[in-house]
Amino acid sequence: MSFIIERLAIVGVGLIGGSFAIALREAGVVKTIVGIGRSKANLEQALALGIVDEISYSATEGVRDAQLVFLSVPVCSIPTTVQEIAAAIPPGCIVTDGGSVKAEIVRECEGLMPPGCFFVGGHPIAGTEHSGAAAAFATLYRGKRCILTPTSNTDPLALDIVSRLWKATGAVVCSMEPGHHDRILAEISHLPHVVAYALVHAVGTADAEGENVLSYTAGGFRDFTRIASSDPDMWRDIALMNREALLASIDGFSASLAIPRWYLVARIIIINGVSVNSITINPVSSIKGEITVPGDKSISHRSIMLGAIANGATTVKGFLRGEDNMSTMKAFRAMGIDINDDGDRITIQGKGLHGLTEPTDVLDCGNSGTTIRLITGLLAGQSFFSVVTGDQYLRKRPMKRVVEPLTRMGARILGRNQGSLAPLAINGGALNAIGYESQVSSAQVKSAIMLAGMYADGLTSVREPHLSRDHSERMFRLFGASLEVFNCGVTIRGGVELQAQEITVPGDISSAAFFMVAALITPGSELLIRNVGVNPTRTGVIDILKAMGGNIELLDERELSGEPVADLLVRSSRLKAIDIAGSVVPRAIDEFPAICVAAACAEGRTTIRDARELRVKETDRIAAMAVNLRHLGVVVDECDDGMDITGVERLSGGSVESFGDHRIAMSLSVAALVSTEAVIVSDTDCVATSFPSFFQLLEKVSCR
Ligand code: NAP
Repeated sequence: MSFIIERLAIVGVGLIGGSFAIALREAGVVKTIVGIGRSKANLEQALALGIVDEISYSATEGVRDAQLVFLSVPVCSIPTTVQEIAAAIPPGCIVTDGGSVKAEIVRECEGLMPPGCFFVGGHPIAGTEHSGAAAAFATLYRGKRCILTPTSNTDPLALDIVSRLWKATGAVVCSMEPGHHDRILAEISHLPHVVAYALVHAVGTADAEGENVLSYTAGGFRDFTRIASSDPDMWRDIALMNREALLASIDGFSASLAIPRWYLVARIIIINGVSVNSITINPVSSIKGEITVPGDKSISHRSIMLGAIANGATTVKGFLRGEDNMSTMKAFRAMGIDINDDGDRITIQGKGLHGLTEPTDVLDCGNSGTTIRLITGLLAGQSFFSVVTGDQYLRKRPMKRVVEPLTRMGARILGRNQGSLAPLAINGGALNAIGYESQVSSAQVKSAIMLAGMYADGLTSVREPHLSRDHSERMFRLFGASLEVFNCGVTIRGGVELQAQEITVPGDISSAAFFMVAALITPGSELLIRNVGVNPTRTGVIDILKAMGGNIELLDERELSGEPVADLLVRSSRLKAIDIAGSVVPRAIDEFPAICVAAACAEGRTTIRDARELRVKETDRIAAMAVNLRHLGVVVDECDDGMDITGVERLSGGSVESFGDHRIAMSLSVAALVSTEAVIVSDTDCVATSFPSFFQLLEKVSCR
């Protein structure tokens, strides 16, 4: 190193600051080190240990004449310390820090620098659970990374000097954008600390009949929770300063934790990390009790989207925390929307029609078609650039159906294969209102155009061949949009400000359908399914099951957040075969696997027609149900657009296969309840994608 720092000031001579001082002294690159702090004992110890040459209790005094100031106080104190010393540092002084969070610190400190002085953000990825000067040691940074977080304002010479100093401590220096740093550190450092604290708390307060559970812990528990003995005040400050990124990490971790939990509930055996992915279900004597099914997925997506562009705080109860909905949540957080999840409800701090901010990275919609298509409509009207993409499956799904009408509205959207496949790059801006005749009946297409229509001048209308799900129309109306619904279409007026709402998401009728069928086909059953959405565009399954003689009562019919809702009282019934075809089919399309099970237990031959769409779902559901029901002793004849199912007195036991389709897996599990012997359903972990608590609820209501 060809330079020497004449005078280095270290504010906060603890583990990080003290180790920096010792390592630089050993490397011979500093002449005088002044330690600045508040505690007499700590500073005198630092002096006695030879970590610093001088001490000062006044930051403004201590930094005078310093060529370089290193801030190693808790993160919340870094900007306030810079504010305090700004007037005292000499011209040319470089101020740098070792704080564990960067975006907020760098933004504030850069703004506080007097002319001729320079700020460089930094963070050594090294530490221990100990604190104070006595914890410092020379080799702390050796071979460890130090991340510097320069911005377009950073002085290149100052950056070079700070980089060379860290290299002199033995650290491996790299650099990245401050926000990127915070997202990475949330995952690898801040989340593990939160988890360690939470684990120690959970185990320490576990109810074990008066026993102190912690007294039995040994090496494994200590290894896992060592960092929980770190200074809690320091980590509280870090967590608060990196709140957004940490919330996203905690959400991701909770979702991961739900997987092993679900495996246990479903009694799936995991050997060497590979799940022996099948479940054995024994017949039950009846289904009894009261359940609530998870919230409606479509309504959950829309609550975040409209909440984000409304004015004020929208609260959502019953939000479905499925992977798809979490993709929507993540995308809006990336566009500057503060979304808080307290476990009971989520709160979305809406910023109005024009409050979204340009995402600094690609928006990853995961596997969610609703997220990518609806968000594309919304982004088309934003005055910023964005890119949306998804997982390998989503990137194969057609996007032309939304890109084409949005382009007609004036949006500039580029994508693979002439804009028909994601990733899509969207240069948003002012849009023109259009009247659009959609070739497909798709709620996603309709909703994307409606969202774009909010940013168009005048009235935008969409007409579709048949009315698709109308959750968007209902929610837009609830938020105060100006819209008119007509036969198979809707018109929406652009520019109307939306107002925040308190939303309660009803239970998903698609999830309730499995339990309706379970209670209908199992003798002696009575099941109350509370709070189910009974939107007429979704209730085909109730109409079909009632036509088969199913005893389903809709109790306490009411409206909740603009959606019709009821409690469903279902009693076992002698079902009769019917012919199912025509307009009821699209209104029950997702529920056909469950309806097939009802038909297998009904008297006579049920025919299903006009349901070709079932062949292009997650699997070919006609073929999958036919082959599986045959294994259970049912006569099934397939045709191109449906099948004939001749019901039997009792299904036989045996082995069946979900083909990776969650609805097939759940339907076959319901069929198993009334079989003569156990049924082994294989490939069942797909259930977790839409209904992680399914087996738990089934267990709860099964009487043996
Ligand atoms: P530490 O050992 O507790 O040292 C911090 C020093 O700052 C203390 O010795 C204290 O000295 C001073 N201080 C404490 N509270 C303060 C306050 N409210 N205002 C002003 N000064 C205060 O902590 P550390 O582990 O070195 O952490 C320092 C910084 O490094 C933090 O920003 C942290 O995020 C970052 N960091 C920590 C680690 C880690 O694993 N520990 C790793 C990388 C980065 P006085 O009492 O004498 O004032």
